[in-house]
Amino acid sequence: MQFTDLGLAAELLRAVEEQGYTEPTAIQEQAIPPILLGQDVQAGAQTGTGKTAAFTLPLLQRLKGHANTSVSPARHPVRVLILTPTRELAAQVFESVRTYGKHIPLRAACVFGGVSIDPQMAELRAGVEILVATPGRLLDHVHQRTVNLSRVQILVLDEADRMLDMGFMPDLKRIISLLPAVRQNLLFSATFPDDIKRFADQVLKDPVRIQVERRNTVTDLVSHSAFKVDPLRKREFLENLVRTRDMRQVLVFTSTKIMANRLARSLERDGFNCAALHSDKTQQERMAALAAFKEGKTRLLVATDIAARGLDIELLPHVINFELPPNPEDYIHRIGRTGRAGIAGEAISLVAPDEMDSLASIERLIKQKIPIQAAPADAVAERSPRRSRAEPSRPDRPRRAEPAPPPALPPETGIPPEAGVRAAPEGHCGALLSGVGTVPAPQRVTPPAPTDKRRKEVAALFLPPVTAKQD
Ligand code: AMP
Repeated sequence: MQFTDLGLAAELLRAVEEQGYTEPTAIQEQAIPPILLGQDVQAGAQTGTGKTAAFTLPLLQRLKGHANTSVSPARHPVRVLILTPTRELAAQVFESVRTYGKHIPLRAACVFGGVSIDPQMAELRAGVEILVATPGRLLDHVHQRTVNLSRVQILVLDEADRMLDMGFMPDLKRIISLLPAVRQNLLFSATFPDDIKRFADQVLKDPVRIQVERRNTVTDLVSHSAFKVDPLRKREFLENLVRTRDMRQVLVFTSTKIMANRLARSLERDGFNCAALHSDKTQQERMAALAAFKEGKTRLLVATDIAARGLDIELLPHVINFELPPNPEDYIHRIGRTGRAGIAGEAISLVAPDEMDSLASIERLIKQKIPIQAAPADAVAERSPRRSRAEPSRPDRPRRAEPAPPPALPPETGIPPEAGVRAAPEGHCGALLSGVGTVPAPQRVTPPAPTDKRRKEVAALFLPPVTAKQD
C-alpha cells in the first residue's frame, strides 16, 4: 500500500514525502482510514511502529478546513487535544504535529510541567487548534482559565496504559468531563491490561480495534541476553561490556533515581560521556540529556523507567538493564527503545541472584527464553586503568584534578526506592533527591589480574548474543 492510497491531502503527502517515508507502516495503514472517517479507534501499538503519524496525519486532515490566518483567538479554539504521560513524549508528539502539519496553517502548542507556565499561557490565550499536553499541566491551565476545552472535536490518548500507571486516572476523568460529549476518541496503548480495557470501554464509542503486534510481545528485531552478575560487580561488568564491545550509544536502565545518578557519576569518573535521566531532573536537564544522547554526544544515558516509553531514539543499538524492572511489562517498554524502524537492536540484562524471579516473570510475559550466562570473576575484573582510555570530557564539565577512588556499586540494600516508583505525575515532581550520602560506603573488590588467554576468553563472552526466537 502507498500513502496515496490512504486518501490523505496533498499537503500531508508532501510532508510525508519530505520525511522520506516510502510506504505507510501497519498501524498507519489500519488507523488512518477510520480516523479520516471520524470513527473512534482503539489501537494496540508500541512506539516505533509509526503510531504518532498514524493519528497525527488524519487529524490534521480533519482539521484542515478550519485553518485560517485570523489573529482573533476566537477563530482558533482547541479542536484537538492530545494527552501524553510524559513531557518528553509530549514534546516528541508536538514535533511530529509540526513536521506533518508544516504545509497546513493550523496552530499547535505543547504544554507540560517543569517549565514556566507563563509563555504557555500567552500561547494558549492567542488560540491554538491542536494542543499536546500532559494531564497535570493541562489542569493547571484549566484552573488558570487559560484554556477552554469545550470545542474539542478529537481527543487522543497516547500511551494510555502509561498514563494510568502513573496515576493520571483522576486527572483524565476530570479533563474528559470538560470535553463535549460528542467527539472522536483515539486511544493508543502499548499494552492492554484489564484496567486500560475498562477505561477504553468507558471512553470509546464503538471503536475500530487495531492491534499491530500481539499483546505483550516484543519485536523480533531485538535480541535478548542476560548475564548473571553479583550486584557489587555490575558497574565494572557494565563498563567492561561497553568497552570490549565498543558500544557507542547505550541506554542503561536502573530501577531507582538514586542508582541512576550514582551509576552515571561513577561511569563519568571512569571517563565515559554519560548522563542521567529521571523525574528529579529539571525539564531543561531532561531535554538536554536526551538531545545530547540522540546526537551521539553522550555515550551512555542512564535512565529510570521514565525513559522507557515513548522516546524515539533513531537507530539505538543497545539497551542494558542494569537492574531488571519491578514490573515485567516495563521490560517490554524499556527494550522497545531499540529494534525500531526495521533496524536490529540488542537488549542485555545484568541479573543479580535475587533478580532471577523477575527474569522468569519477564520470560513468561514475552514468551521467550532469555539466554543467561554467568559472568566469571575475570570478566568484571577486566577493567581498563582509570582514565587511561578516557573519552574527551564534555567542554562544560571540568575534570577533577584527582580521580575519586573507583567505586563498585554498593548493594541495593540501603538505597531508598524511587519516590513514586516511576515518574511522578507532571506538576508534582519538583522534589530533589536527598539522603544520597546515607548510602553505605562502596565496597571495593580486588580481583586477580587476568592472563592473556583469559582475556581472550572474556572478550569472547561479550560477542553479540544469538537472537532468541519467539515461540
Ligand atoms: P512512533 O512509533 O510514532 O514513535 O514512530 C517511530 C519512528 O518511525 C519515527 O522516527 C518516525 O519518524 C518513523 N516513521 C513513522 N512513519 C514512518 C513510515 N511510514 N516510514 C518510515 N518511518 C516512519
